[in-house]
Amino acid sequence: MEALVDSFGRVHSDLRVSLTDKCNLRCTYCMPAEGLDWMPAAEMLSDDELVRVIGVAVRDLGITEVRLTGGEPLLRRGLVDLVRRLADLRPRPKLSMTTNGIGLAKVVEALAVAGLDRVNVSLDTLDRETFVTLSRRDRLDDVLAGLDGARDFGLVPVKVNTVLMRGVNDHEALDLLHYCLERQLSLRFIEQMPLDAQHGWDRSIMVTAEEIQSLLASQHALTPVGGRGSSPAEEFYVDGGPATVGIIASVSRPFCGSCDRVRLTADGQIRNCLFAREESDLRAAVRAGADDAEIAHRFRVSIAGKRAGHGIDDPTFLQPDRPMSAIGG
Ligand code: SF4
Repeated sequence: MEALVDSFGRVHSDLRVSLTDKCNLRCTYCMPAEGLDWMPAAEMLSDDELVRVIGVAVRDLGITEVRLTGGEPLLRRGLVDLVRRLADLRPRPKLSMTTNGIGLAKVVEALAVAGLDRVNVSLDTLDRETFVTLSRRDRLDDVLAGLDGARDFGLVPVKVNTVLMRGVNDHEALDLLHYCLERQLSLRFIEQMPLDAQHGWDRSIMVTAEEIQSLLASQHALTPVGGRGSSPAEEFYVDGGPATVGIIASVSRPFCGSCDRVRLTADGQIRNCLFAREESDLRAAVRAGADDAEIAHRFRVSIAGKRAGHGIDDPTFLQPDRPMSAIGG
């Protein structure tokens, strides 16, 4: 095994795999009301192709964590079986999933039995009307049930990802914190990034990490946990701990210097960064008969060309052509 190291010495051990670009919400900050042109099924990696490629990644490239993403990964047919097959890989990767939580309550037990270790659930509001306004769907109760189910079936820590938006849900920061503290959920606030399909992101309306921290500190003592490693979240003990809250300052305090992530899109393209403008077509190689060494080589070449960071502050910054739902979070 030869680790996946880039030209800056960053070791990549976290593979994020998008299982579909489809979503059952239509969040205003992510995609238009009518949805997007979804990928045709034939263009997406099959389960067999996924298991093979991920198998190479854990065996030959030092990938130790596989995060299933989307779109909404719960919409992938046969998900439980796929998780079971991934849990059978050796070395056994840690398996986590980022989901909007809709439908999670129904399958959480099967996913836990199949070998899923953990989930991250997106939740921006506890207010039903705001949820409907933001996501264009009336599904808040489903998400909350999914969160409870994930905790009850041991997919812990259950991480809750929240994006605060000025004038929309920024007044809910403390309510969200209290909700999560009461239910042993691990809340992380994430600065909004320019990854929407409509290209409508505007830095001036982004609620910054600094603002979030002072909002939380208005009622709670926050003490840095430290020892962050490659984690994007700065964690703080709340009122002395042991409960914590995280803040992910993706834009104002980027953590690209310790990035350990590489992505595979649902249509089999390797992306060395969330904001990469180039991709490597692994699907074409796999379908042309590439052997395992060739698959591993494709990952290495992609990582060798990885840039230092996202460069959102650079005047030449260009938002990626694909929206977040097609890249995988
Ligand atoms: S923006 Fe790119 S380099 Fe920075 S942390 Fe995200 S994936 Fe890594």
